Amino acid sequence: MLSPLALLGIVIVSCLMSVAILGSLLRTAVPGIGRWCVAHALLAAASSWVLIAGAQSGQFVMIGASLITLMAVLLLVQGMRQFFGKGSARHEESAAFVIVSLALVYFTYVSPNIDARVTLISIFLTYARIAVGTLALLHAPPDGARYPYRFVAAAAYLGALFHATRAAAVAFGMPQMAFLQPSPWNVLFLGLAIVTLPCMSTGMVMLAHDQLTRRMEQLASIDELTGALMRRAFMARANILLREALVSGKPLSIAILDIDKFKAVNDGFGHAAGDRILRHVTSAVSTRLRSCDLFGRLGGEEFAIVFVNAGKADAAGLTNDLRLAVERSPNQGLRCTFSAGVECVTSGDTLEGVLARADAALYMAKATGRNRVVTAPEVEECDVVEPD
Ligand code: GH3
Ligand code: MG
Ligand code: MG
Repeated sequence: MLSPLALLGIVIVSCLMSVAILGSLLRTAVPGIGRWCVAHALLAAASSWVLIAGAQSGQFVMIGASLITLMAVLLLVQGMRQFFGKGSARHEESAAFVIVSLALVYFTYVSPNIDARVTLISIFLTYARIAVGTLALLHAPPDGARYPYRFVAAAAYLGALFHATRAAAVAFGMPQMAFLQPSPWNVLFLGLAIVTLPCMSTGMVMLAHDQLTRRMEQLASIDELTGALMRRAFMARANILLREALVSGKPLSIAILDIDKFKAVNDGFGHAAGDRILRHVTSAVSTRLRSCDLFGRLGGEEFAIVFVNAGKADAAGLTNDLRLAVERSPNQGLRCTFSAGVECVTSGDTLEGVLARADAALYMAKATGRNRVVTAPEVEECDVVEPD
């Protein structure tokens, strides 16, 4: 039969592997990784201490290893909070740690009671596992893969179940449940609880990878200056919307916006002022769009909007409202305007085709005086929404 000492060996190896893997991710500065790393190192240290002391481990070893273990699981919970951008420490948890530690000392030296010690430790471990699992479930990002978060939660809750069962078994008088007792039930509960630890640690590595992937996706798709979608991400999402519109038969329109005489802003007021105008226009437009619409920066001072479920006239009206909003909200005394070309999708269209026609309309808007919205098919006989 697997002995508690063999279980300790499993804990040591798995924790050292977790330290190595989490340690390799430290330089990514994913929040919480530092605490997870230290927690696993502490768990490996506590288990090694007991293993080296062997079956004759004295009370000092047992209480020392227990306190290190409690400290480690507290760090796991705190790391989880940090990972999700919450304040890591909780006063109640620190207070509970101190009270449980004092109680363990009391039940070791003042009024020795192994059952009380096992119950206290199991309850604390149960709480820590429930806290880790609940944090993972509650704060999982709504978009993207939820699998790593559910994996961590499942491993944590399973561990909680086994620790709680062990606490209940002691409370109901099941004998020989002290840590190093090789009784079958003790080994079973401890073993099951311990096996969920490497699963939880693997899940934590998966969480770190998920956050790194999100960061990279963000870097590749969000324009740093304005916070708008970058061209490639915009085109990818616009293509999806276009295909959906062609399948459903619902109207879809695209507008291309280009800031007027922007070079003169840079030349006259400096590049920083130009950057402020770019941010200002992005914010003025994106805060006024409907949540279903798509907005992106195509490059330089050129932007595009996909108006979902909107025909050309509606899209031109909405674009003109945006034009008026930008015109009427100068940025630090600097007034800027934009011109726009609008085109709608027709059957068999491609994104490139619609954008080319919208661009031709934009060219016409520039040619006929700027600060206006022009719709596309009438490029020969322009349909111009004149400024007020
Ligand atoms: P038009 O009304 O015909 O569109 O004239 P324009 O001056 O806006 O157009 P032009 O293409 O001549 O100039 C665009 C300028 O945008 C030139 C470029 O230096 C500037 N620009 C492009 N990207 C950025 C940026 O990220 N920040 C700043 N400040 N300027 C930029
Ligand atoms: Mg321009
Ligand atoms: Mg331009």
